[in-house]
Amino acid sequence: MAAARRAFFCGNWKLNGSIAESLALATDVRNGVATLRDVDVAVGPSFTALYAVAKRLEDGPVAVAAQDCFWEEKGAFTGEVSPAQLADAGCKHVILGHSERRQYHGETDALVAQKAKAAWAAGLNVIICVGESDAERREGQAHSVCHGQINASVPTAASAANTAIAYEPVWAIGTGKTPTANDIEGMHAHLRRCLSELLGEGAKGIRILYGGSVNPANAAEILNLAGVDGALVGGASLKAMDFLKIIAAVRAS
Ligand code: PEP
Repeated sequence: MAAARRAFFCGNWKLNGSIAESLALATDVRNGVATLRDVDVAVGPSFTALYAVAKRLEDGPVAVAAQDCFWEEKGAFTGEVSPAQLADAGCKHVILGHSERRQYHGETDALVAQKAKAAWAAGLNVIICVGESDAERREGQAHSVCHGQINASVPTAASAANTAIAYEPVWAIGTGKTPTANDIEGMHAHLRRCLSELLGEGAKGIRILYGGSVNPANAAEILNLAGVDGALVGGASLKAMDFLKIIAAVRAS
């Protein structure tokens, strides 16, 4: 963990939870996080629960992240939600380019970049996801794939104040598989170089999170690897106690 970058944890609840269930989970996370220091924490409910959860967490230590946004502010775009609406609902962050969006909705790097600019214009911070597929990994393409994704999906106005990157190998998401410690450190160092090449000095403070099957059992090892600045957590963030154990693991360093 680089001392200059404060650890950041974001729960991605995906398509899960009623409003009541989301409120209960958010409340448990808030109550647990209240005793932790020196970390930034966010939870990512479904659109339908964002406002209620943001109200519940208002003025507390846990922020709210949306799982996606559209790139226009308003208009004839049936079914879409704009960054301004997310900010109005109480969101501070928005996750962009998650591999499930890329896979099921055909989202491209260019689209992710467009959404990032729109999100910043509405005052949101973005968490831009990159990561290679299993086939790309097996072909030795992981570094080049992620380099391409960084170059094309991170606009050059990105800074530590408005952007975090999540390295999420697609084959590790929800599978219980994780890369080796060496591979994670190697990829995070690579991503840091890619960001520096793209953004210069401004890249230094940008946090690079790891995501993909992080759980309470593997958190301490992963989170204390060089260059890992926190985690984007899917499945394990649906249980407050597991999410809190993951957050606490970074403190074991
Ligand atoms: C994710 O979908 O962002 C994720 C990291 O999922 P999981 O932790 O369940 O692998």
